[in-house]
Amino acid sequence: MPTPQIVWLRRDLRLADQPAFAAAAAAGPVIPVYVLDDAGAGSRQLGGASRWWLHHSLAALEVQLQKQGMRLILRRGKAAEELVRLADETGAGAIHAIRHYEPWWKNAEEELSGQLELCLQDGNYLLPPGSVRTGAGKLYRIYTPFARAAMQMLPQRDPIEAPPLTSPQNWPQSDRLTDWHLLPSKPDWAAGFAAEWTAGEDAAHAQLDAFVQHVASYDDQRNLPAIDGTSRLSPHLHWGEISPTQVWKALEGRDGTGVQTYRSELLWRDFAQNVICQFRDYDHESYRDRFKQFPWRQIEQDSAAAADLRAWQEGRTGYPIVDAGMRQLWQIGWMHNRVRMITASFLIKHLLIDWTIGERWFWDTLVDADFGNNSVNWQWVAGTGVDTSLFTRIMAPLSQSDKFDAGEYIRQWVPELADLPDEQIHDPDGKCRPSAYPDRRIPHREARERALAAYRTMREKA
Ligand code: FAD
Repeated sequence: MPTPQIVWLRRDLRLADQPAFAAAAAAGPVIPVYVLDDAGAGSRQLGGASRWWLHHSLAALEVQLQKQGMRLILRRGKAAEELVRLADETGAGAIHAIRHYEPWWKNAEEELSGQLELCLQDGNYLLPPGSVRTGAGKLYRIYTPFARAAMQMLPQRDPIEAPPLTSPQNWPQSDRLTDWHLLPSKPDWAAGFAAEWTAGEDAAHAQLDAFVQHVASYDDQRNLPAIDGTSRLSPHLHWGEISPTQVWKALEGRDGTGVQTYRSELLWRDFAQNVICQFRDYDHESYRDRFKQFPWRQIEQDSAAAADLRAWQEGRTGYPIVDAGMRQLWQIGWMHNRVRMITASFLIKHLLIDWTIGERWFWDTLVDADFGNNSVNWQWVAGTGVDTSLFTRIMAPLSQSDKFDAGEYIRQWVPELADLPDEQIHDPDGKCRPSAYPDRRIPHREARERALAAYRTMREKA
């Protein structure tokens, strides 16, 4: 009997187009394992919404494996230590895994490679992070030239089929998924998630199939939060239930601006990895040094700032589009991209609260919370990043709302405003404001002037 091969799963919870499974299956019987490594992740332990998704995704993968007489082994502890222990117990010849670029996963890979045969594959991105380079051989820091160069290199390969898997003679011991308590219980704040999402590889493909039917209108509709105009594949892509190569392939044979724009958006995902490969601390350090001098309001010392933060988190800022977005996030663990930009800008510029605090809130509440995508986008909105919008370009929530929502999005998520007519829904100030809806935390003009003054202070200091 050939020696068993371990497949170490992380954010790659699928069987098809999963090169680690393919390589392991070609070498012998396969032991798929997921290690819940809270200690290794340090301050980046999975947030609550991510845990909810992970539970359902692992359950779905286990069902798929069981159909082939296979199991999914679950272990909890430091990833490298658990894998070494598992290899000892099973006599496994090698560990197969898809490369990950989050700092804690890179640490775990380094720790393992000194001890066991670790076979790493690319597979979670359209192009291997680090492979798109400038003429001078450097990594890109600006999205547009990165995307132009990447487009020339795509598609690089076709998706690979799910391999037939052989089970080992003896299965090692496994934790029970329910014993990990990944789902919230008291209170069960995720009730709305289940109505919105189905995790797992089959569900990811069903979502892709449905989206491909209306990809032609993506370019026109992707900025309208009331419409299902985007693919909603982000949690499936983040958890690796589907690969971007499979998504790219599904669009082949379809032309038009919808497909082109969609492909460019997918490339932002690759770009974000390319950024975190260069800057490991991108989630908590502004790339632009001078922002270290920025006079953010301090929530530990300033109770008004702390109250503003809570109002933002709970969707009670008095700005309907901001509140709609924050409540959508809380209720279904996801927010439309346009509204992510508006709410992030509001926290940073209207409330003058450090972008890293918002990034943390999203990390805890998004089902697609992603180290690369989240930090790159927060720094982009803040104006602190490598490729970035200007800090002084302050999004006006009322005109954004008026431009991108006919009122339906606000009515869906802010029911106190549902009866207001279209002309008042974006700006329910004065007499038309229902008593159940909060006052504005700060008037727009005052917030704008305060933000610009803070920016000037930073420039004087820097
Ligand atoms: P679609 O429009 O259908 O796009 C398809 C896919 O392309 C997405 O699923 C995603 O994988 C990728 N993509 C699209 N836009 C971006 C982008 N700007 N940056 C990186 N990848 C992108 N996305 C995450 O996946 N995880 C995050 O933690 C995250 N945090 C964000 C924080 C802020 C402040 C902002 C402004 C954006 C953030 N995004 C994040 C990017 C984007 O909002 C989501 O990827 C998108 O809304 C997901 O919906 P969709 O799948 O329908 O997107």
